[in-house]
Amino acid sequence: MEVALKIDVDTHQGLEHGVPRLATMLEREGVAASFYIAMGPDNSGRAILRVFRNRGFLSKMFRTKAVSMYGTRTILSGTILPSRPIALSFPETIRALKARGFEVGVHGYDHVRWQDHLDDIGERGVRDELEDAFEVFRAIVGEPPRSFAAPGWRTNDAALLALDAMALDYRSDTRGRSPYRCVVNGKVLATPEIPTTMPTLDEVMGRPDLPDANALLNFYLGLSKTDALNVHTIHAETEGAGQLESFTALVRALKDRGAKFVQLREVASRLDRAELPACEVVRSTLPGRAGWISAQGPVRISSE
Ligand SMILES: [Zn+2]
Repeated sequence: MEVALKIDVDTHQGLEHGVPRLATMLEREGVAASFYIAMGPDNSGRAILRVFRNRGFLSKMFRTKAVSMYGTRTILSGTILPSRPIALSFPETIRALKARGFEVGVHGYDHVRWQDHLDDIGERGVRDELEDAFEVFRAIVGEPPRSFAAPGWRTNDAALLALDAMALDYRSDTRGRSPYRCVVNGKVLATPEIPTTMPTLDEVMGRPDLPDANALLNFYLGLSKTDALNVHTIHAETEGAGQLESFTALVRALKDRGAKFVQLREVASRLDRAELPACEVVRSTLPGRAGWISAQGPVRISSE
């Protein structure tokens, strides 16, 4: 069984507190992981505005105890309180991750702008988000990023094409079954896409059939495929905070079952691009998640 832990860092609080806690735990457990960090301002408070547009959001805020999980400062960031930079507030934390052998990639610039307005900001806006994010990454890490993970698993043609032109080693922008190459306007893009295969904790937490930590642990163990790559996205704000104990139990249970933890860059390095299936990227919804996400569509043609 192979497990790639994809750790998304969406907020100032997640990078300040969640990331060091997760890194310490993973190091202690001898487990590899990949971190994707939002490089720009923390505007998480603006996500509250989704309440007015998206009926699923409010119930999710309560169900996942968002206020106790994120804290009032984060909830208000970018609204009545000014937004704080995420990556640039903790450059040493990011450099320390790299020095400790973790993979570090880009999780967009302004997470909320990307997630809520990707289709409104146009090609220019998409390029600005990417260029700003990559510039901050370069300034902190001292080398260009090699990977990108889209905020909120949302992408569109402009983003797919702009990222493909950047010739990254891989992207992890979508939800899906296994690595593939995206088809845009009939053209098979070069960059491999390594999709998240598992549901996230906030999507399943609070389900009546999963009433406690033990039920959730068994749910994730049951979903983990023994003969394929499992890409499990976790959040610094969730598994790195209130859910750290439960997540540690899951890591140990996976280890007990012989799981091998790999970084996404290792997965990318062994992919034969010519052998990957070519798939359209479609818009879909997921139980427990408000709004749309980008997903791996059916296999269209075999590439090359
Ligand atoms: Zn995110």
